Amino acid sequence: MARSDEQRLADLQATYSRAVRGFLPPEGLTVSEWADRYRRLSPESSAEAGPWRTSRTPYLKEPMDAFTDPRVRKVVIVAGSQIGKTECELNCLAYIMDQDPGTVLFIQPTLEDAKKFSRLRVEPMVRDCPRLRRKVHDTERGGKQAKTVLQKSFPGGMLMMVGSNAASALASTPARYIIGDERDRWALSAGREGDPWRLAEARQTTFYNAKAIEVSTPTVKGASNIETAYASGTQERWVTRCPECGEWHDIQFDDIRFKYETDRVNGRKVHRLTSEPEWLCPSCGCLVSERRMREAPSRWRADNPGALAQTRVRSFWLNAFCSPWTSWSRICLDFLDAKDDPQRLQVVYNTLFGRLWEDRGDLVSDDEMMARREDYGTRPDGTPVELPDGALVVTVGVDVQDTRLEYEVVGHGRWGETWGIEKGVIMGRPDTDEVWERLDGVTSHVWRYRDGRGVRASVTCVDSGGHYTQEVYERCRARQASRVFAIKGKGGEGIPYVSVPTQVPIRDKRIKCWLYTIGVDAGKAQIMSSLKVQEPGPKYCHFPRGRGYDEGYFAGLLSERLVLSKTGTGSRWRWEKIPGHERNEALDCRNYALAALEMLNPDWDAIERSRSGADRAPSRPKRQRRRRDRAPDEW
Ligand SMILES: [Zn+2]
Repeated sequence: MARSDEQRLADLQATYSRAVRGFLPPEGLTVSEWADRYRRLSPESSAEAGPWRTSRTPYLKEPMDAFTDPRVRKVVIVAGSQIGKTECELNCLAYIMDQDPGTVLFIQPTLEDAKKFSRLRVEPMVRDCPRLRRKVHDTERGGKQAKTVLQKSFPGGMLMMVGSNAASALASTPARYIIGDERDRWALSAGREGDPWRLAEARQTTFYNAKAIEVSTPTVKGASNIETAYASGTQERWVTRCPECGEWHDIQFDDIRFKYETDRVNGRKVHRLTSEPEWLCPSCGCLVSERRMREAPSRWRADNPGALAQTRVRSFWLNAFCSPWTSWSRICLDFLDAKDDPQRLQVVYNTLFGRLWEDRGDLVSDDEMMARREDYGTRPDGTPVELPDGALVVTVGVDVQDTRLEYEVVGHGRWGETWGIEKGVIMGRPDTDEVWERLDGVTSHVWRYRDGRGVRASVTCVDSGGHYTQEVYERCRARQASRVFAIKGKGGEGIPYVSVPTQVPIRDKRIKCWLYTIGVDAGKAQIMSSLKVQEPGPKYCHFPRGRGYDEGYFAGLLSERLVLSKTGTGSRWRWEKIPGHERNEALDCRNYALAALEMLNPDWDAIERSRSGADRAPSRPKRQRRRRDRAPDEW
């Protein structure tokens, strides 16, 4: 009994002294001073484990110290990866726990992110930092919140970590501090309650000394919350003094000059820099090496200094060119590797250049496409080459209108490279034999290469969605042997490009027709991303001069763009017609022709072998033995 009493007393003492420690006056340090004195970087999250040194990343000093500046209510940091923004947040968090305790709401995009952040960043920091280890403890929350909130307590305050979509779980908890990480990936609404940031800020209203930190990698222009937050603040950029002329500039990728060579290794492009990247000073035009720029004086420059008095927001924007962990050569090589793939290029823009990505759907202009058309060459007998050598498989997409059929014949190479072969219109109502016979002329035509060999269309997809559904079913059924199939386009997110076909009955007849459902949005995304590829090779779209590829064609092909729309529960991408581009048959035909290739999923190795073989007869490529479910007996 006595032993247990003693133990209880000791526990009580420990609790009491923990509580009292929270009421000791702060040491009057700034965050950077505190970090230099007490913070240790953990080995699992840092290549440079050990004591924190602000001098290593001098650009983080001002953002951290702004946090302890009584004039500042909110600090906004826009920065890519490998710059240290997370350490900056952690230093502020550690400072709160040790020096100026209060309730902290730490918000990540999702609960999963919050759990990961807690386990991989917060816990190692507490473990490796003796000042914090003594103070910070895990606590459980009861009831409904247990599932949505991670919690740690320290004398005088607590840390609550949540996902942005569940920020409403904390509706009743006042918080003096808010730290919001990866703000651009947050849910647009926390449940039905609206913008999570506003919800979080509402928790702060009772604190005269409330503070917030909003941090993110930038994302898409016009849809970026961190861009808006940055604009509301002092808009500070990290500028370096040109060693030649003394002017101050922030280093932008557009001002970096470098030379490179490209080799092909196993069919893939490999880039190599042939000169060290240099910075071209926009003021004096001198080229300055990376080493000299890193040694030159740097400081923050505010474009909107008045915001400090008006909104009390200091906002900072950083890119990877100032990071001590990322060389300029690395940035240039990452850019070269990504430049042909818009999705990867966006990552480079956001994380390395620290730049917003502009949805470039509308940057590919009709004029640009017209200018890009090429001559496929002539054959020895003087007739034009119908099919360039890279186009190994041919498919056709057909759009059915009340007065005509529109079609496009597309040649496909390996790795998604495509060649427009012919864009045509067959006038006439779709319930007359004549239009279908003329379509047969297209689907059975042998498209000739330069050497005289040729191939027919492997698969043709015909849209059944208009007023002539039954007619299309019937006509396609009669042409199954030539692999002419009825398709039905279905819009919406997450619908696979090609699904398993179903059998649909044909009116008044005891026969059925195979019908493929095409996820047209998946197709549009594929088309738009390939149109942005600038160099022939994987995914590039070739177009010939003539053969129906005129201004009207490109206006139709570029008739829709992807827009991000806000909905009750988040954001959703959807396709929208661009004003002035009302006709979209060209886009539909291309979409169906690409779906036809998806359905076929050809065995490229076999096709390449047969192309290089001696077989001169027109041939259809062999299909791969077994893959996607398809109309069984017709194939
Ligand atoms: Zn200069």
